[in-house]
Amino acid sequence: MKQIVNREHYIYGMSAQYKPVLSVESGDHVEFQTYDCFLNQITSSNTEYSSIDWSQINPATGPVYIEDAEPGDILAVHIKKIELEEKGVMATGPNLGVMGHRISEFSVKEIYIKDNQAIFNEQVRIPLNPMIGVIGVAPKEGEISCGTPGDHGGNMDTILITDDATLYFPVFHQGALFSLGDVHAAMGDGEVGVSGVEIPAKVTVAFSVIKGSSIRTPIVKNKEGIAYLVSKETLDEAVNVAVEEMVDLICERSTLSLEDATMLLSAAGQVQVSQVVDPLKTARCFISKDILTQLGIHELF
Ligand code: CA
Ligand code: ZN
Repeated sequence: MKQIVNREHYIYGMSAQYKPVLSVESGDHVEFQTYDCFLNQITSSNTEYSSIDWSQINPATGPVYIEDAEPGDILAVHIKKIELEEKGVMATGPNLGVMGHRISEFSVKEIYIKDNQAIFNEQVRIPLNPMIGVIGVAPKEGEISCGTPGDHGGNMDTILITDDATLYFPVFHQGALFSLGDVHAAMGDGEVGVSGVEIPAKVTVAFSVIKGSSIRTPIVKNKEGIAYLVSKETLDEAVNVAVEEMVDLICERSTLSLEDATMLLSAAGQVQVSQVVDPLKTARCFISKDILTQLGIHELF
């Protein structure tokens, strides 16, 4: 059975303090309906910076309580389907993103979705890559704004978080308290201008709870392989931790030594940048399914 959480159930932070809007069991499917990251406040290409309430951004829909999730477990979230509305928006401006020091005007763009492409302008069409920017569970301590990523997930802005991917999160609280939002019709690695093609959507996921294993930071798995997603003050730190997590996984689950696991990653692993524009930066360390299979690692958990 599929249950629906409509987008009026939105929050601006992830925290164990927020009352769940729905309780589900492992195996249940849930459709999350989401606003775009601006709470749909950009209504035309003339929308001005001052007309946007910047305290009302990055809403996530939820949280949903998963019945058997307990602290120390892993919550697996399989993304079954991302359905986009027909129009997205982008924005950039002074002091926003990588180019903000050279941009003097706040600028927004409406981007229509047609024939599986995002119409950037009359000349350029971008292939769609529907993906989820904000996705996670209640963090260990306190509240973390939905604009910030971390070990609980949050605003990881990672292009691999797309149809048919599975996300794994550490569970810090009873019920995990999962929420998601900030869907993009397309986004480039880095999200350099501070937004992807921001778009309201419906996202259907299936939950399962994994007992007897734990992780420190989110993992994304797709048909091609797996990646650790790590968010830190700097990209350097994020890269280092993502690589260490992957080395540790390989050492624990195969017969490789620390040295061999390191050399294998150096030869066949990919360090990739997810985003450089949020309060913490997110990097990932990816390894292919083929290499994992050769190491005898067939199932992650
Ligand atoms: Ca985002
Ligand atoms: Zn976004």
